[in-house]
Amino acid sequence: MQCQRCQCEMDPDEAREHAGLTLCEDCYMEALSPARTCDPWATYTARRLTEQEPTLNPAQQAILDCIDREGPVSPERLSEATGLDQVALQREIAALRHMELVRGAPRPGGKRVILRFDAVDPAS
Ligand SMILES: [Zn+2]
Repeated sequence: MQCQRCQCEMDPDEAREHAGLTLCEDCYMEALSPARTCDPWATYTARRLTEQEPTLNPAQQAILDCIDREGPVSPERLSEATGLDQVALQREIAALRHMELVRGAPRPGGKRVILRFDAVDPAS
């Protein structure tokens, strides 16, 4: 049988299932390794963009301003500070997170706060 990733011939005994694909041992290990779980190119491109020319929209800038002013803030507080509804807010936070400008941190009771990507979470 064949590996569905590298197309190499393999023994059925060696076949591994991952994400619906039948993989050889090597491809399986590669698929599992943390370096492969995110797209390095996408992160690289996003980082390059923020370093060279920050392309923040006004909403994203308002979110960063609020975090810089107040530290870790709840989505509710950000919604209040920026005037965005939760759906729009989550979209902007996702974009900022992808640019490695903010990240989420858990709080008791299943709540989350948003803080700067490289900030130390005071609660952790
Ligand atoms: Zn393979």
